[in-house]
Amino acid sequence: MNKKESIYEKVLRKYDNKRDNLDIIRKTKIDEVYKKVPVIEKIDQEIKDLGIKGAFKVLRGENVDLTRDLEDLKAAKVANLLTYGFPGNYLEDKYECNLCKDTGFINNEECSCFKQEVAREYYKMSNLDKVLEKENFLTFDLGLFSDEIKELEKISPMENIKEIVRASQKFIRNFEDPDEYNLLFYGSTGLGKTFMINSIAKDLLDLGYTVIYQTAHNLMGVIEEYKFSKTEDIIEAKKKYDYLLEADLLIIDDLGTESTNTFSSSEIFNLLNSRNLGDKKILISTNLSPAEIAKTYTDRVYSRILDKFNVYRFIGEDLRWKGY
Ligand SMILES: [Zn+2]
Repeated sequence: MNKKESIYEKVLRKYDNKRDNLDIIRKTKIDEVYKKVPVIEKIDQEIKDLGIKGAFKVLRGENVDLTRDLEDLKAAKVANLLTYGFPGNYLEDKYECNLCKDTGFINNEECSCFKQEVAREYYKMSNLDKVLEKENFLTFDLGLFSDEIKELEKISPMENIKEIVRASQKFIRNFEDPDEYNLLFYGSTGLGKTFMINSIAKDLLDLGYTVIYQTAHNLMGVIEEYKFSKTEDIIEAKKKYDYLLEADLLIIDDLGTESTNTFSSSEIFNLLNSRNLGDKKILISTNLSPAEIAKTYTDRVYSRILDKFNVYRFIGEDLRWKGY
């Protein structure tokens, strides 16, 4: 029987495919261009010859600088492309990630795009990009929030959400600062918590950070899978669990909806604690108020959660009917 392909191997294979596709695209474009603009084939040949000439000269110990010649040939190539209606950069590879040129590695270290891809596979977040295209700071509509101050409140929903946006953007700006606090959003469903979390996730992913986004319920599933895994599955389960510790940002959505008991409570504590010790940021959303968090979890979790978190309450009317 074939050994099951691990997530890591699957991602490696994905990157192999990406490179194969780039090769195919490159060859197709070259064929097309050579056919329409034969002089470009000649220029490419001259570029190659120049390289060989340079190498020989270096071997003979001669002092060579062919940069100017090379620049001239490249400029001639671009000029010809443009004359024949191609974009000047038509023959340059277009990468999804310019950092690693879609190889997944930079000097033998995994590129952040590679790590994020592994996290996506482990945590079944393939849908995330689509969601984030719709829910981000650019599509965020302040106009949905009322500017009326309700009884018993000190601030209008609009002023409140403005403050949360400011805090969120500060969190992103100072993301690598160990003194910057984590964020905890609480309030009823439908007040924009998830939208705000998605906006933060989008910006940080765009900046090249790795982000894991899980509901508390799924998160407990992953932890249990690791803690109670059979011997043959332990390596893969541990790798998956380790990503919870190593990802630049861990988002725990809907804290308090998982079934809570002594085990889950102490596991959540361990996770939050390890991440805090490693200066890794956490973003939590919950329907529970701080008082309810204290009741639901142990004192250790409670103090850990409030200790290194800036806590924001979402207020106002349910926005779900407005499409949130
Ligand atoms: Zn990359």
